[in-house]
Amino acid sequence: MTKKHLLELHAIKKVFHTEELETWALDDIRLTIDEGEYVAISGPSGCGKSTLLSVMGLLSSSTEGKYFIDGVEVASLGPVEQARVRNQDIGFIFQAFNLVGDMNVLDNVELPLTFRSGLSRKERKEMAIEALTKVDMAHRLKHLPAQLSGGQQQRVAIARALVGKPKVLLCDEPTGNLDSRNAEMVMELLDTLHKQGSTIVMVTHDPRSAEQAERKIMLFDGKVVEDSRAAPKLHSIGE
Ligand code: ADP
Ligand code: MG
Repeated sequence: MTKKHLLELHAIKKVFHTEELETWALDDIRLTIDEGEYVAISGPSGCGKSTLLSVMGLLSSSTEGKYFIDGVEVASLGPVEQARVRNQDIGFIFQAFNLVGDMNVLDNVELPLTFRSGLSRKERKEMAIEALTKVDMAHRLKHLPAQLSGGQQQRVAIARALVGKPKVLLCDEPTGNLDSRNAEMVMELLDTLHKQGSTIVMVTHDPRSAEQAERKIMLFDGKVVEDSRAAPKLHSIGE
């Protein structure tokens, strides 16, 4: 079976200018990520991991190079189309959860759907509850984020990322703010989502988390210095 190329980065560069300093946060990144892959990105602090994820997720644009999502060159899209791709095709999971503090769990998860046309309130609610059930948080719909543990908040954040059925989940240090027990729970959840077909790109500095992925990419000074695939694991295909 031929794999579909989901994300294609062709000679991507990103420069930041600060006072007289020029930082090439990404320096000629060439990467292809296929549908269904589980990829871990590691490397020392400041090597460009978050910048790479934000370019992949259309949170920032590259300075040079070409980027294709599902065969479509991002630069060919106008701002409205780019916002649509960001909302529909990309699910983000951040280290700091980034839930809206004065909205309850259900409203937080529904939030990305409110930017979509053609969904009724009832449909939005059903989709949010379905996503929250996947992360085992459907029993806390009316809680506010501050009333949940860190691990629970991250599970809600994962439900919010999943609710719109994105083509890829981009995770930036998803266990960075969690104790080891909650971190393990989140890693198990990502593993389950992968087995159910999700494409996952995860930035992590934790070697154990990186082990769980099928493919490990190392960055150094904005460059890919290693890109290795583990032997394929034999697991049944879910869903
Ligand atoms: P990592 O996530 O691997 O720690 P980042 O992608 O955050 O690294 O940063 C890569 C490099 O780009 C660093 O040198 C950082 O200081 C620089 N950088 C990141 N964001 C900005 C910004 N908004 N303005 C200026 N420099 C930045
Ligand atoms: Mg970072």
